[in-house]
Amino acid sequence: MRSRSRRHWSSLAHGEPGGRARTISLAPVITALAGGVGAARLLRGLVRVVAPTEVTAVVNTGDDTELHGLHISPDLDTVTYTLAGLNDDERGWGLAGETWSVMESLERLGGETWFRLGDQDLATHLYRTQRLSTGATLSQVTAEITAALGVSVRLLPMSDDPVRTHLTLVAGPEVSFQEYFVGRRHAVAVESLRFVGAQTARPGPGVLGAIADAEVVVVCPSNPIVSIGPLLAVPGIADALAARRSEVVAVSPIIAGAALKGPADRLMAELGHEPTVVGVARAYANFVGTLVIDDIDAASAEAIEACGVRCVVAPTIMHSPDHAATLASLLLDAGRPSGATSGRGR
Ligand code: GDP
Ligand code: CA
Repeated sequence: MRSRSRRHWSSLAHGEPGGRARTISLAPVITALAGGVGAARLLRGLVRVVAPTEVTAVVNTGDDTELHGLHISPDLDTVTYTLAGLNDDERGWGLAGETWSVMESLERLGGETWFRLGDQDLATHLYRTQRLSTGATLSQVTAEITAALGVSVRLLPMSDDPVRTHLTLVAGPEVSFQEYFVGRRHAVAVESLRFVGAQTARPGPGVLGAIADAEVVVVCPSNPIVSIGPLLAVPGIADALAARRSEVVAVSPIIAGAALKGPADRLMAELGHEPTVVGVARAYANFVGTLVIDDIDAASAEAIEACGVRCVVAPTIMHSPDHAATLASLLLDAGRPSGATSGRGR
């Protein structure tokens, strides 16, 4: 296990123009909790200020699904493709330069095409499914895929056991996460949700150790309900985080009462949380010591501190990898036990 006591903060890596940090011998060890796009953006900045080999991301698998007999892990793939520099930034998911021949052919056959899978992307799912079918674990397959794509951040599925987010809609049935998110474009009200399989799931190999050993634990700006929620539902993870609370720093995915993209704000409201930075602070208060909120929400800093959560105010919209790197540096400072004072984080 990597020890935090023998490492020094004075030797932060500085990003190279290509986005990769230089190899250094002493670097902070960081563990990040990750959903999809918001997390991928932050991690892309983090690897500019910390050696990628010192970063572990524990990734949500509650979005995973089986389609066409294939095991699809959307959040693991989003993070992998982004760190590999292969993602389509404009579309916001999948691979750049993607083609859709298989989907077009499938459509001709009357097959299921509501969940779009690009031709190159399909190779990832084929590889993963084949390896899983021969007894490999999701952790092992993830390590193989990331290595093949040149990603040196350690990506850990939150669990190798299946955990599946299911949502009960106000107007009707219980649906899987992808039926809600893609099939119904999350334009339907949700009454409740559950993480099927979570109760008996074990944290993936290395997950609890990565949380215990990190100098700073970062909660990425991911959907609190359906990206961070599943991680917390795996027995052991919430306790491991709570034990490190003073070094756990979260970035609010809610800015001015809204999500930048996706249903985080609506889901929070529908499930009884205030869809604001204060609602995020309350939801995370048990395991987050510091919450970073956007400049625009500065007036809420006091209310957040009243929840017992230290508040740092900073620009948090990651328009570019440079913005993300600046935010990542600020998180590292905020997570140090003797770190930044509350108030403005710049
Ligand atoms: P997924 O990509 O669908 O798995 O969704 P995530 O779990 O990554 O959650 C998306 C959340 O990230 C939304 O609530 C966004 O508001 C938030 N988000 C995305 N980009 C940024 C950003 O640049 N800054 C902040 N603060 N939040 C972001
Ligand atoms: Ca997701």
